Amino acid sequence: MTTTRVMQVTTPGGRPELAERELGSPGRGEVLVRVEACGVCHSDAFTVEGWMPGIEYPRVPGHEIAGRIEAVGDDVVPWTVGQRVGVGWFGGSCGHCEPCRRGDLISCENGQVPGIAFDGGYADHVLVPAGALASIPDDLAAVDAAPLLCAGITTFNALRESGARPGDLVAVLGVGGLGHLGVQFARRMGFETVAIARGTEKEDRARELGAHHYVDSTATDPAEALRSLGGAVTILATVTAPDAMSAVVGGLKPRGRMVVVGASEDPMQIPPFALIPGSTGVVGHASGTSQDSEDTMRFSVLHDVRPMVETFPLEQAAAGYDRMMSGDARFRVVLTME
Ligand SMILES: [Zn+2]
Ligand SMILES: [Zn+2]
Repeated sequence: MTTTRVMQVTTPGGRPELAERELGSPGRGEVLVRVEACGVCHSDAFTVEGWMPGIEYPRVPGHEIAGRIEAVGDDVVPWTVGQRVGVGWFGGSCGHCEPCRRGDLISCENGQVPGIAFDGGYADHVLVPAGALASIPDDLAAVDAAPLLCAGITTFNALRESGARPGDLVAVLGVGGLGHLGVQFARRMGFETVAIARGTEKEDRARELGAHHYVDSTATDPAEALRSLGGAVTILATVTAPDAMSAVVGGLKPRGRMVVVGASEDPMQIPPFALIPGSTGVVGHASGTSQDSEDTMRFSVLHDVRPMVETFPLEQAAAGYDRMMSGDARFRVVLTME
């Protein structure tokens, strides 16, 4: 038995509150991870606000978990005690549904998300399926690894699977939690990188992160600005405002795609005429598997990509969550454990 502190939500719409839990030893295929840092993601609202039906409470949120293996269950290969590991949105797949049988693990019909399907990383310890583990490189601190496990993999994977090639014009819509990583990845993948945001406040930051061009969408029509640069092969839409997404679609080059990773329930209004002439399109992108997380972290070490974070101690998870939800954090909130 391991006694651990957790910040749990006891009811939909509740607050993360301190509690003590007794965790048993890891079961077959499971590992016990001592958490060193856990990112606070906008999707934690599914659990905290109760946006997703079927969540069992009390539940511990958190799916940007960075730590170290403390114990392994039976049949766990090849992970060993003491290894540094991370767990992101991908918390395991069933192995028997059709997408799994086709090798498309992130599309698993029974996919498990830490902090939603089982207790997540707002805690000193978590029990997780071994299939969800990604190895953390030595040169990456836990506080930097954590945001890469959801915000990082989401933008990294969406860009590398977008079909854009080195030298192509790629725009990142939004310079926030996702976008500040998207700009860094786009630049380092060799794209001519455009950052689009509201106002001039973020221009210097966007250029520091690697943007070749900056478009203030309140001062100019962002679609026209992209067309004047030759048109974007890919637009990575990281904002949560569908109106802002609709406003840039016209900046795609023929055959270009807008890849949507900013989560919103609100409808996006795009006239069919905006898509037909250039055979352009709008697609979504789900984050990626544990191996994709590992790729994201390795690339980040190789090419010096790091999240900008504000840290809060575990017991201040509620304040950290509020800070994230306010949209004012620069740019990701990370909980740290002693
Ligand atoms: Zn997330
Ligand atoms: Zn499956």
